This record gives sequence, C-alpha cells and structure tokens, in this order.
Amino acid sequence: MNEYDSNRILDLLSNIGFEKTTIKKNADCFILNTCHIREKATEKVYDEIGRVKKDFKNLKKPLVIVSGCVAQAESDEMLKREPYIDMAIGPQSYHNIVDLILKHKRKKEKINNTEFDVVRKFDQLEKVLNKQNKISSYLTIQEGCDKFCHFCVVPYTRGPEYSRPFKQIINEARNLVNNGVKEIILLGQNVNAYNFKENNNNFTLSSLIRELNGFEDLKRIRYITSHPKDMSEDLINCYKDCRKLMPLLHLPIQSGSNRILKLMNRKHDTEYYLSIIKKLKNINNEIKISSDFIVGYPGENEEDFSDTINLIKNVGFVNSYSFIFSPRPGTPASQKKLNNIKINERRLKKMQDVLENLQLDNNKKLLNQCCEILVENKLQNQEKYFGRTKDMTPVIFDSETCKIGEIINVKINSYNLKNLFGFHIVNKNKAA
Ligand code: SF4
Repeated sequence: MNEYDSNRILDLLSNIGFEKTTIKKNADCFILNTCHIREKATEKVYDEIGRVKKDFKNLKKPLVIVSGCVAQAESDEMLKREPYIDMAIGPQSYHNIVDLILKHKRKKEKINNTEFDVVRKFDQLEKVLNKQNKISSYLTIQEGCDKFCHFCVVPYTRGPEYSRPFKQIINEARNLVNNGVKEIILLGQNVNAYNFKENNNNFTLSSLIRELNGFEDLKRIRYITSHPKDMSEDLINCYKDCRKLMPLLHLPIQSGSNRILKLMNRKHDTEYYLSIIKKLKNINNEIKISSDFIVGYPGENEEDFSDTINLIKNVGFVNSYSFIFSPRPGTPASQKKLNNIKINERRLKKMQDVLENLQLDNNKKLLNQCCEILVENKLQNQEKYFGRTKDMTPVIFDSETCKIGEIINVKINSYNLKNLFGFHIVNKNKAA
C-alpha cells in the first residue's frame, strides 16, 4: 500500500513542479513514506534522516517530510527528537501535501498533520490522475481494519475500515488500463472486507472483480490482503467465473494452533480456514495458497508450533512470509512476556526450511512445462525478460519477439528457490 501511496504523493506533487530524482544531492525535498508493521521502523527513519543530514552538510537543507504509519504513530515525538524533520503527515492525510508544503514555505513552521480524513483523501485523489504506468499496478480499494488482532498496529495507524466508492475505483481502474496497465492488484489492509453501499446496492470485492473481469485490455486481477473471516461464497465463486482472477490467494493464517489464534484474537480457527481452502480447491483446481506466519507469539509452545508446521505441510503453501513476533507499541500483545529468542530463531529456521521445500517442489513441478507469463519488463543490460506466472513466481526468460504487457507461453528449463528460468514458446513446437 505504501508503494501505491508513494505514487499518489508523486502524482499530487507533480502539479507543483516536483519530479522524482534518483540523484540524492539534486533533491530539494525528501519524503520518507514509512511502514510501522516491522520492527525498528522508527529507528530506520532516524538513520535515513541522519544520512540525508550528512549528505547535505554543506548544502542548502532540503525539505524533509515523514509520511505514512510511523508518522501517524509517533509524529509529536519525531518532530521533537529530530529538528531536521519539517513535516509529519499521516497515511490518511497525505492528500493535503501540496497545501502543507506551500504553507511551510510561507510560514516556515513545523507541520504535524495526522488526521483520519480518509473520505476526503480519496475524493481529493480522484481529481488527480493516477499516472502509474507499470504493467502491474496497485489500486487501493479499502483501508483500515476493525479486526484488532492483538499483534497488529494497523487499526491504530490506518484507522477503522473504510471502503472507497465503487464508481471511483472503477474509474481509476479504467484510467490505469488506458495508461497501459495489464494487471491490477486491488489493495486493502482487509481487502475482502470491502463493502460499499449506494442507494439499494451493496458492492463487495466480488462486484469489483466481476466488473474488472469485463475490461477488455486488462489481463490479470489480483487482490491482497484478505482475512479468512471475509472469504464470502460470492468471492469464492469468482474463482470459478472470472477468468482474469489469478488462482493465487494470499490468505494469512498466522498460526496453525487454535490456542494461539485465540490469543491473537484472529476470530477464526484452523478448521474454518481449511474449510475455505477446500471450497476453493473444489471449484478451481489451479488454486494455490500463500500465507503469513508469526513465529514465537507470546505463549507459543512446542505443540502449538508443531501444529503450525503440520498445517503448512497439509495446505502446501507457496510464496509465503514468516517472521518472529516483534511487539508493536500500543498493541495488546506488546504487554505480553516475550518467548525465548533462541527458541524463536530455531522455530523460524525450521518453518522457513519447510516453506522453502514446498516452494522448491512447486517450482520443480513446472520444469519442462509451458507456463503463461505476463511480460513485465526487459532486464537492464541484458537480453532477457522478466514476467510472472499465475502464482506470482518470477520468471526470467529469453525471447526475440515478445512484447512488454503481453501474455506469452514460456517453457521452463531450470529453477531455484525464488525464480523460474526458460524461453519463449511461440507455438507448441517452436521456440522463439
Ligand atoms: S486483520 Fe490484518 S490488518 Fe486487521 S488487525 Fe488483523 S492483521 Fe492487522
């Protein structure tokens, strides 16, 4: 979501003559668009500002803005602790950035804007063209969360669930596709909780997918991140009816132990989770599942951990993420006693070995197979191209005729943990 927000900030700032630079010393302004999910997020901001300070020691001080969830959570403290910061702007108020910069120029005072102004934010953004021109682009449809998992900071930094108006999203999607986008990844902290009511109509994530599925020039649709509780029958059925909806579902379970899921306040158990997967696989046998896992949640014992490992093997997850629990300030779990770090590290290693083996098995099965790939770009300084399979696995391949943005067949001739390698097949018996 930060990538989407950063691009939208650039769209807004291009109206007052700002443009992105890759040459650090050329910059008049630094914007650190921050995420608060991972450990040491705040310290990373101070480190980065320290580097800017050093580079600009003998130059005119640039404007320094901290935006995103770290700004939301710690703006007062940051402005006090680091005088080099000129502004702190929360993730629900960045639509004001142009006015705030102009105000700062006039008044030369520090600015702290962390209001939850999400309705106005999207109304304002609607007036500014989303100029993303990547083949695969993000589109935020929903923000915030009402679930309050005990480890998670999102409900405090992004606020309560908010769903953007259906038509507003469809218009933005149409603009993206007119701009050359071939894959849209619908975004939300709780994306499948999307629910917009207008007159007597109730629009859900499945309504959006069905509408986008009808866009002629759009080739692929994905969405992230979902909560198991919000996997409605309607959404599950999209995997049967919507050809463009890719058969990889990122559905975080976090733990395979019902006891830990309860302590996490996840509001689902493993039986319910497995029942969703069963339904999905019954209607579409191409479906693969990825997940996030937290290792060493306070109170996790060996039995809980082994339940998680068994569940991972049982589901056969691909493309998943695993982390050791780290307390986020202000969340209920941050009050709990931490598990032994050595035990956590051992468990994480074991889990990652299991996940890596599953990923390798997944990749190995594709050896000598033809895969449908969306061509995303040509690798810099190389003749090779980059694209992704339906399940998001990166593919590096040779081709003499492919075009960026088209779906092609690639025959896979080798693989490693993260990538597949191969060559473009123009027709069944002929390599291009
Ligand atoms: S559902 Fe997701 S975003 Fe919401 S509190 Fe839980 S982990 Fe955080």
